[in-house]
Amino acid sequence: MMLRLRALLGFFVTVVIALTLHAQVASGGKLRVYFIDVEGGQSTLFVTPAGKSLLIDTGWPGNNFRDADRISAAAKSAGLKRIDYVLITHYHDDHVGGVPQLVQRIPVGSFIVHGPNREQDQATERGYAAFEKALTDTKAKEIVAKPGDHLPIQGMDVTVISADGQVIQKPLSGAGEPNTFCKQSEIRTPDQTENARSLGVLIRFGKLQILDLGDLTSDKERDLMCPDNRLGKIDVLVVSHHGWHESSSPALVDAIHPRVAVMDNGAKKGGSIPVLDTVRQAPDIEALWQLHYSDEGGAQHNTQPEYIANLDGPDAGHDIELSANRDGSFAMRNGRTGLDKNYAAGK
Ligand SMILES: [Zn+2]
Repeated sequence: MMLRLRALLGFFVTVVIALTLHAQVASGGKLRVYFIDVEGGQSTLFVTPAGKSLLIDTGWPGNNFRDADRISAAAKSAGLKRIDYVLITHYHDDHVGGVPQLVQRIPVGSFIVHGPNREQDQATERGYAAFEKALTDTKAKEIVAKPGDHLPIQGMDVTVISADGQVIQKPLSGAGEPNTFCKQSEIRTPDQTENARSLGVLIRFGKLQILDLGDLTSDKERDLMCPDNRLGKIDVLVVSHHGWHESSSPALVDAIHPRVAVMDNGAKKGGSIPVLDTVRQAPDIEALWQLHYSDEGGAQHNTQPEYIANLDGPDAGHDIELSANRDGSFAMRNGRTGLDKNYAAGK
């Protein structure tokens, strides 16, 4: 009896190992990231080689499942049947608004948040209430994250940088040099909204580092980056706040030396001229990618069309996709043209 049980257990272990290997081979051992077009909101899906998934934000409410459908299409093309973790950076409509529709399209394991909403504003309170209801209805788990935490996602390391208005107090390993870009950054009045409470993360996959700080505002960038640079250098920057001018001070953008930046702007949301300029001229930058052509930016300030997923014209919902190797090399694909650009591993 014991022997048979052991043999059976051995068989199951073998099957599980085989399935895991199969999933890793199917994705070529790469981390895949989908920058989904939610028209000026945020929704970014990370899928590890073993098929574990993290979605950062869910786009807008309304629009008859537009954003939920775009997210589930990306999930489906990544071979997912559920999303393990959905991280809500903050409770503004363009980030948390899509939750009630999303959970009707695809199951979610856990939600990761910065804590309760503290902004007294009708739209924000409504969005928070709808999120809480979805949480109760689906019985999904809720994880409250603090700066310095590592999120429980297998296959990549996710470190919390900011949450609920707080930022990490100690530099990350290898960082902590004085930040010479602080003096070029103006001091702004502290933001009082949910933006400043954004749950921001640094994602490491092998040697590749991707920074996503949600809509974190300049005052918090200063708390994090001055006088010493607590982040060091990163490879890929998800431009904060859709490229809106309330974020992306030189103290952050220039100091972290991003090699590639991705802006989740809409045609008329984010994509401010000063931010387009700061990012395109950041030291060591190889390319700025944008989900949309920014009307405000015009030909002079937008990146080149080959790096823009959605040009002027009717809404087509094209995405941008990144696939990364553990050695730090990666490729970016424009969902509109289907063309790839390759980036060598960083030094
Ligand atoms: Zn936003």
